[in-house]
Amino acid sequence: MSYTAQRLWRRYRSVPIIYRIAAAFILGSVVGIVVGKPAASLQPLGDLFVRLLKMVIVPIVVFTLIMAARNLSPKNLGKIGVEVVALYLLTTMVAIAIGLGISNLIDPGVGIELAKNANVNAEKAPPLGKVLLGIVPENPIHAMAEGQMLGVIFFSLIFGIGLTVVRDEAEPGSKLDDGVSAIFDAVEVGTEVMFKVVWGVMEYGVIGVFALMAALFGQTGIGAIVSLLKLCASLAIAIAIHISVVYLLIIMLGLVGKSPVDFLRGGKDAMMTALSIRSSSGTLPVTMSNADENLGVDEEVYSFSLPLGATVNMDGTAMYLGIAAIFTANVVGKSLTLAEQLSVLLTALLASIGTAGVPGASLIMMSVVFTQVGLPLSAIAMVAGVDPLLDRMRTMNNVTGDLAVTTLVAKWNDAIDFTTGVWADAPADVGGVASSPTTDD
Ligand code: ASP
Repeated sequence: MSYTAQRLWRRYRSVPIIYRIAAAFILGSVVGIVVGKPAASLQPLGDLFVRLLKMVIVPIVVFTLIMAARNLSPKNLGKIGVEVVALYLLTTMVAIAIGLGISNLIDPGVGIELAKNANVNAEKAPPLGKVLLGIVPENPIHAMAEGQMLGVIFFSLIFGIGLTVVRDEAEPGSKLDDGVSAIFDAVEVGTEVMFKVVWGVMEYGVIGVFALMAALFGQTGIGAIVSLLKLCASLAIAIAIHISVVYLLIIMLGLVGKSPVDFLRGGKDAMMTALSIRSSSGTLPVTMSNADENLGVDEEVYSFSLPLGATVNMDGTAMYLGIAAIFTANVVGKSLTLAEQLSVLLTALLASIGTAGVPGASLIMMSVVFTQVGLPLSAIAMVAGVDPLLDRMRTMNNVTGDLAVTTLVAKWNDAIDFTTGVWADAPADVGGVASSPTTDD
């Protein structure tokens, strides 16, 4: 390779992958609009991207969920742990329900039509009871082979929790104890490997997304843009409702007499950091410092709840998975029945637990939800183009959710100091606490 080519290549690689994918999305769309129908011949290049995504779904779910279960040992959870986990699950479920409700109203995706060969599973929708029963696989290997993602997720979580129970019961240093550590270490390596593979797939995704967008716009013309704008609007509205109603209600009712605005002031550094770096895990140090210094939460609570939240509590992510499912169903002209939407809710809830707190992680978990309800993975290319924007909103919601639950559980357990931080200098603090210097601002 010549020196100039090498420099160009290095420059290209130095741009974060998601921005390269966004650029491919725009370029592909323009090519599709300009070239028209012949651009559909690029479809096979896009299909290759879809096959690569399908290849990584099952291993990534198995590895990430066993890893997520590592912190969920029944023995170590204790009262605070159980409260935190229960609230995390409850708020995530509400988030998905809001997302599904808003997207059912706005109907993003109507007006776009995927290439005819997009793989839609047109099987008759299963009844509600079957969806719930389907969470428990009769045969986990069969569930993996068939892409029954709810079953795979359930089994992986149960297996991970089983490992933690064996670890808790084993003599320290015994063969069993060492064995469990070895399995967790191997799973950690497996997770790392799969993430490397995923980023490799994403490198090809630049070509894949370009091809899929060119083929799509070649068929639908410019009208698809309106639909994508509706997708963005659905997420923005759902997040606004979730933060302003659910979290602030938690704060108002749970922290009797405390202003939700003060809570937002206390968490604003974490929210801004999440908006700019698009990673809950990367934001964790700021989230912890906000909980400690601004919100006066005891270390005993936040040192458990926030690292756990950064990996398992993803309200914005889960909500988006639901919205993306409705969007894609509309794109392929399939209307999701109530039972299918429940299936989306359950899969998105469980998949969000296994979503890593890193930029763009939703795109992988989206393939899990789509597989569960038989939606085509090629739709992921469509939403990938707007992901750099949507990821910011999701991540901001994710860390706000961690902080809201942490603050409430701290209040329940008398582990919060209302004489410091934002509570102390609150102008309208009905708690009537004397003013003291705040660490905020
Ligand atoms: N970027 C998100 C986070 O770190 C995950 C995602 O939704 O992609 O929380």
